[in-house]
Amino acid sequence: MALRFEFGEAKLYIGGRWVSGGPPLEVRNKYSGDVIGTIPTAREDDVDTAIAAAQKAAPVMAEMPAYRRADILARTVALIRERRDEFARTIAAEAGKALKWARVEVDRAMMTFTIAAEEARRIHGETVPLDAVPAGEGYFGFYVRRPVGVVAAITPFNFPLNLVAHKVAPAIAAGNALVLKPASSTPLTSVLLCRALEEAGLPPGAINLVVGPGHTVGEWLVRDPRVAKVTFTGSADVGERITQIAGIKKVTLELGNTSPVIIAPDADLAWAARRCAVGAYYNSGQVCLSVQRVYAERPVYDPFLERFVRETESMVVGDPLDEGVDVGPMIDEREARRIEAWVTEATQEGAQVVTGGRREGPVYWPTVLVNVKPEMKVVAQEAFAPIANVIEYDDFEEALRQADATEYGLQAAVFTRDIQRVFQAIRRLNFGGVIINDAPTFRADHMPYGGNRQSGLGREGVRYAIEEMTNIQMVAIRLGT
Ligand code: NDP
Repeated sequence: MALRFEFGEAKLYIGGRWVSGGPPLEVRNKYSGDVIGTIPTAREDDVDTAIAAAQKAAPVMAEMPAYRRADILARTVALIRERRDEFARTIAAEAGKALKWARVEVDRAMMTFTIAAEEARRIHGETVPLDAVPAGEGYFGFYVRRPVGVVAAITPFNFPLNLVAHKVAPAIAAGNALVLKPASSTPLTSVLLCRALEEAGLPPGAINLVVGPGHTVGEWLVRDPRVAKVTFTGSADVGERITQIAGIKKVTLELGNTSPVIIAPDADLAWAARRCAVGAYYNSGQVCLSVQRVYAERPVYDPFLERFVRETESMVVGDPLDEGVDVGPMIDEREARRIEAWVTEATQEGAQVVTGGRREGPVYWPTVLVNVKPEMKVVAQEAFAPIANVIEYDDFEEALRQADATEYGLQAAVFTRDIQRVFQAIRRLNFGGVIINDAPTFRADHMPYGGNRQSGLGREGVRYAIEEMTNIQMVAIRLGT
């Protein structure tokens, strides 16, 4: 029997008030399917009111001294810490993320807000030696960073707190106001976050929460000329759509990946197998950096595979609210059926399932595939599911070529102790991040993070997000007049 969790009736947060909107959206426990709470969907005039409230709060935020913005962010951290369990259980229930990983997410979000509180105090420009060219002789130059105004943040289901934090915290640190639209399947964690921000003293209108389908609520936000910046994390298709409809405004996109990992013959195989298994299966592989393509060199292919399969089979699958569980359900049964169909298609084309390949409702068991071909969906397209392909290679340069042969470019990883290979990998891999001796899922929340090619535009990681959420304002002063 599924463990009980109830959230109750939630509201939208607009202009500093908790308000009703349009028809209620039912939010379900992703393991049991039970309704755990409701929240109104926003109508077009609710979105309009939310943007107007943000517009009104934008100058208040821009004028607020840095130490006060930092204090609000630090108080938010304290409130999240007090409610750590409530946040974690809400994430586990609405996103289906195992409680142990939900707790890690809450701790990371506190870190993201802490970093933002620190960064709020050091947003600065620099002097510009204008006399470097004849036209600048007799001028003094410097630039400052000014908040853009209203930020629209659109977020996915898989990290309902920390990926929201990566947009909300830098936006506030930079002195912006925002309208947040979380994924329709996981809006309740954002309700908890808005409550914490309100109690921490964030002025009315500085954050507004609207909920509803991406193709309506999301697009109303993206198209609105009052919005100065759209920051989006989600699928490549929606990211592309946003670039088509946003008009002239700043856009940051954090999109997908088919994360490759290369296991060189000198790798620590036990460590690599353990980290690749965690990286492939936590949150049921619904992580943009989830391990998907593992290239192992011929001499270590069999011993690596054996260890990796053992690690895969050690994952405890079940109710995410259960303390002992590693892998919960996927976000819905349709997604579990999709990956089941991809795996079936791959096996019909010659692939072999070494372990896993089993589905019950929305739960898909951690699965290892071998004998795959580059054109199979399980290899070529973002799986976003608990599956990993192990592929044999002979030549390191060839493995780098295959790892890089993708339209994506978020993060890639190499396990090796050979410094030559390390630098060969850095040069050859056109990815936003290259991780050595850990899985591509590695992320410290202050590092520059984002993708090349179809994986996105711009970078997050608090300081880098702040850069994207501010405009440079150049000042040139003619001296002596
Ligand atoms: P989606 O792209 O389906 O949805 C993301 C958000 O966009 C949701 O809030 C969604 O609303 C909204 N949305 C949908 N359509 C539109 C639209 N036309 N205009 C504006 N907004 C819209 O992604 P998922 O939630 O399914 O998340 C999975 C994807 O996110 C994967 O591809 C994954 O790789 C990527 N991702 C990338 C990360 C990164 O940092 N690079 C991190 C995590 C995930 P609604 O929920 O109502 O549909």
